[in-house]
Amino acid sequence: MVSNGNGNHREGHAALGLENWGPDEREQILGASLIRPASQDRLEGIIRSLLVEIGINVASEHFRDTPARVARFYREFSLGYSVRPEEILKTFRSRSDSLVIVSHIDFFSLCPHHLLVYGGKLHFAYVPDGQIVGVSKISRLVHALARRAVVQEALVSDIADAFMSVVKPLGCVVKAIGHHDCVAARGVRCPSTVMTTIVKRGIFEEKESLSREFDQMIAEGNRGT
Ligand SMILES: [Zn+2]
Repeated sequence: MVSNGNGNHREGHAALGLENWGPDEREQILGASLIRPASQDRLEGIIRSLLVEIGINVASEHFRDTPARVARFYREFSLGYSVRPEEILKTFRSRSDSLVIVSHIDFFSLCPHHLLVYGGKLHFAYVPDGQIVGVSKISRLVHALARRAVVQEALVSDIADAFMSVVKPLGCVVKAIGHHDCVAARGVRCPSTVMTTIVKRGIFEEKESLSREFDQMIAEGNRGT
């Protein structure tokens, strides 16, 4: 049972887009043992010290539950370190070798430089070689691997490598378009900047026509067709 010990786990999962996951999958993918009751979580005390250090009155009603809430947030956003892709990507035999595209997957991850949330849309495609996976499994792999402090460049290549090693397709491509609050709110202050990262594996590295078809399908999805 995934719980944070105070009955708010539903709220947390909704925020992370996990509300549609079955209990078994949540436990398997998120590693239920990592979400401890807040009162037992050492991180809560660490967050309280951080708040005190920056001059916040933690007795104020707005901050009273903040250490527990923030601790829970960071626990959830570090669950990706224990992900086992082979448990998410259940495969089925198939003779299809046509392009499969799963696009417009919302993702949220943590920037490793500032520990701030960044996120955006992620697009994925593969060409099967005897095995396929259910369409929801792609989103689950993305959400699971995004629950880490990881740069967007590494996130897309980790997703591609995990998929290649478990499903063994002819090739795959992963493209992420992210908005980074650490760029928007501090430093150069460019709120409308987007960062695009793309990795190609296997047949996508060789056949430019597949990448063009992938980009075309994403553009059609953007227009709502
Ligand atoms: Zn950052």
